[in-house]
Amino acid sequence: MSTLSNPFEIARETLRLLAARRVPPTPDNYLTLYQEIAGIKAAPEPFPDKQLRTLTAALPKASNEQLRLARQLDEAVKAGSWDDYRNRLVEFVSALTDVQKLTWSELITDLVRQWDAKHVGLTVARKRESLEHVLSSSANNPETLFTRLQNLLRSWGQGREQENGNGSEPAPPENAVSRASTAEPTNLLPELRELFAFTLETAIAAQLVESPVLSTDAKALAADIRKARNEDQIADFLTRLKRFAFKLELLAEDQAELRRSLLSLLRLLVENMTELVLDDRWLHGQIEVVREIIDKPLSQRAVDDAERRLKEVIYKQSMLKASLFDARESIKQMLAGFVDQLANFAEVTSDYHDKIEGYAGKISAANDISELESVLGEVMHETRNIQINALRSRDELRSTQKKVQESEARIRELEAELENTSNLVRYDQLTGTLNRRGLEEMFEKEAARSKRHDTLLCVGLLDIDNFKKLNDTMGHETGDEALIHLATVCRETLRPQDTVARYGGEEFIVLLPETPLEDAISALTRLQRELTKKFFMHDNEKVLITFSAGVTQMLPEDSQASVIKRADEAMYEAKKTGKNRVVSS
Ligand code: GH3
Ligand code: MG
Ligand code: MG
Repeated sequence: MSTLSNPFEIARETLRLLAARRVPPTPDNYLTLYQEIAGIKAAPEPFPDKQLRTLTAALPKASNEQLRLARQLDEAVKAGSWDDYRNRLVEFVSALTDVQKLTWSELITDLVRQWDAKHVGLTVARKRESLEHVLSSSANNPETLFTRLQNLLRSWGQGREQENGNGSEPAPPENAVSRASTAEPTNLLPELRELFAFTLETAIAAQLVESPVLSTDAKALAADIRKARNEDQIADFLTRLKRFAFKLELLAEDQAELRRSLLSLLRLLVENMTELVLDDRWLHGQIEVVREIIDKPLSQRAVDDAERRLKEVIYKQSMLKASLFDARESIKQMLAGFVDQLANFAEVTSDYHDKIEGYAGKISAANDISELESVLGEVMHETRNIQINALRSRDELRSTQKKVQESEARIRELEAELENTSNLVRYDQLTGTLNRRGLEEMFEKEAARSKRHDTLLCVGLLDIDNFKKLNDTMGHETGDEALIHLATVCRETLRPQDTVARYGGEEFIVLLPETPLEDAISALTRLQRELTKKFFMHDNEKVLITFSAGVTQMLPEDSQASVIKRADEAMYEAKKTGKNRVVSS
């Protein structure tokens, strides 16, 4: 088919073909035909990441498998890969349906067959009793029911029911859980069980000295497998083992991140060491920061904090270094000018000596007083010249000296400042809380952490009530004190892992990791109560400050801006409805 190029013709041809091919005239069909006629390739559809993210967030995350699926889907969305997303989902669903579809029908057939079959020492009544027990004990969980039924049928098939109580299994220790009627004795070799317990207790628990909770878990699992005597207990053990493995996986991810952060911290230090070493006292400050982290138990928070502080020092030092360089340059220039002047002066004076020598010759050769008079006149002139020159040089010398002294003082000042720059710029200078830049970095870290661990992160925005009035009646300095006071009470009242940042004039943001919304509301309410107890004094007068707050929970599709906007709207609601309140969104 020859390709048309005029849009009108293409449109007409499209309509004609729709009619001729008897295709329903939907927009999609029209577009497909239009593109076919015009010879255009269909544009790729934009990747619907927002919708997919919402979908992933809505999926249940009750089991390890479901959590893993959510994580894989998140990664696929991040990579913008529809193929990955679809494959993961299809794999997951087919695994589910395979188990259910395939094996349930087989299992029921097997059950019917075994029910009718004769087993040595196994009566129908005994079979009914054990079947009823399995049915009633796992009615709520199809997966467990399936496994237990399978085990039951297997034991019937092996005629193992009759062996109960006199088999080759060692008798359980006295403190073992008493057997349910269907809880089949496990045929897991005692040696194998012991080996498993030993691996958990020594090889695994020993690796977890830095995660005491997981280490205790490993030891508890070891004790469990030692005690496990029947299939039920083994099944329970396996469930807990899987959960444990999942936690180990999370821990490995955390540790990998910690290592990455540490490396980038060290890289930062080393790269800047050569940059900044003008004087090794400055280096000391930086080494001190790194030493401090290494001394404490290593945690992601401490490393993040150190990185922020180090960046700070480097930023400030690079600015000071430029000023210092300028000051040194100007001293050099002044000295060079002075030396020139000195050389000039020396030249003038040696010229003067030559001339004086010449005059001395003239004087001794002079025959009469009038000749002498003119020579003396010239000598006087030259001497005055040299005097003026000497005076000028002295003045210049003095002014240069003064300038050098000033520059030296400035250099000392700058050097002192350089020594004191450690934890600024990402912190608010007045209150010592994080500033906006610091908040931005912290928010990113906390949001990523909450996603990784699937925990809740809440964000609160605080705005002091009637602050303008306080400033107007008590002065700006008291206003500043009130801000410092609020920041201090925040730090004292909130948990160490919570973040406080100054967001604007009298507005603060708090980040509350691993906190459900109700707990965040009560944390802020507690803060309000604390503020009414801890007032501060001004001119022998108690100054009481209150704030209004909005608080919200971070959602998977939230950005820093969107979550703060929600908190701000809730805060505004708190202002509108009477101030000194906490409103949630
Ligand atoms: P509302 O209860 O509605 O929040 O009233 P408000 O007076 O607190 O709010 P408004 O936004 O009208 O005033 C905020 C004031 O905060 C205005 C500004 O002068 C003051 N402010 C901002 N930054 C600082 C600071 O660093 N120090 C001091 N002392 N005052 C500040
Ligand atoms: Mg305000
Ligand atoms: Mg205010």
